[in-house]
Amino acid sequence: MKENDIRPDNFIAKQKELYKIDQLNILKNKNQFIDICCPACDDNEKTFIFQKDGFSFVECNKCKTLFVNPRPSKESLFEHYNNSLSEKFWNDYIYPKSEEVRTQKIITPRIERLVKSISKYQIHMNTLIDIGAGFGTFCHQIKRKTSFKRVIAVEPDHVLATSCKKKGIETLESFFEEINIQNLKADVITSFEIIEHVFSPKEFLSTISQYMKHNALLYFTTPNIKGFDMLVLQDKSDNITAPDHLNYFHPESISTLLKSYGFDVLEISTPGQLDTDIVRKKVDSGILSLENNPFLKSLFVEKNKSLPSFQNWLKDNLLSSHMSVFARKAAQK
Ligand SMILES: [Zn+2]
Repeated sequence: MKENDIRPDNFIAKQKELYKIDQLNILKNKNQFIDICCPACDDNEKTFIFQKDGFSFVECNKCKTLFVNPRPSKESLFEHYNNSLSEKFWNDYIYPKSEEVRTQKIITPRIERLVKSISKYQIHMNTLIDIGAGFGTFCHQIKRKTSFKRVIAVEPDHVLATSCKKKGIETLESFFEEINIQNLKADVITSFEIIEHVFSPKEFLSTISQYMKHNALLYFTTPNIKGFDMLVLQDKSDNITAPDHLNYFHPESISTLLKSYGFDVLEISTPGQLDTDIVRKKVDSGILSLENNPFLKSLFVEKNKSLPSFQNWLKDNLLSSHMSVFARKAAQK
């Protein structure tokens, strides 16, 4: 898989233009941004790392989670997502254009991983909730390919929620932290590339736990700040982007956070496939210079080394920048 397959270059340029406008809008309230403790371990000692697009990125001294601090309030983020021009562009152009390849390269492997875990951990298949369902591709395929009795998409963005409804999916048009439904308990909760967006990952996980049966399964993905492309590119990574991404965990820090909210961590892996492609594009476009890094230069510039096997090695050693997490809500003790 190439990055261009799921984020076509010609559309990304336009999306970036619109995102600039979104960023400037939220930065108008910069004097009201809020100072927070580490979103993973709650420690208050942090070190400034860099500034990007008007946002400050700091690292927790204790657990090395990277996060945006100070950050826009929850209300201001809600407003951002409700009016975001770049989100609308994703829905109108990028998702429809890339849906087929996304289904094949991203959604199907996700479903396979989920089905395997459901069988391994003997999870019932009554209710699945997908938080931040986006264009609804995952929920649609889950309904087609598995025997879940009820599949619920939670999606706050009106345009995206409409896309989910059009696919015949039961949809709650709301931010997950705001849903207030009695007696809704899921066997499985999924959430792909969402926890890095939220103002408070703690509140997010606590709400997730509230809507889970005991022993229910939580499956989510998020960037790994200790992954290859993020470590090499740092502030040059397109993934390092506020206000959309505020929290950058790694395998140890996400485990710490999950355990403190009563989850048993079952599996953490980094099944990413794009690290080398992402770095190569930054080198080819002149954004990243490897002059002072002979090893990476020999990999990415001088010879066409076997990067697929290097990518597989990263994947196998928790060193890809795309992280996948399975956890279970601990049984009542
Ligand atoms: Zn920390």
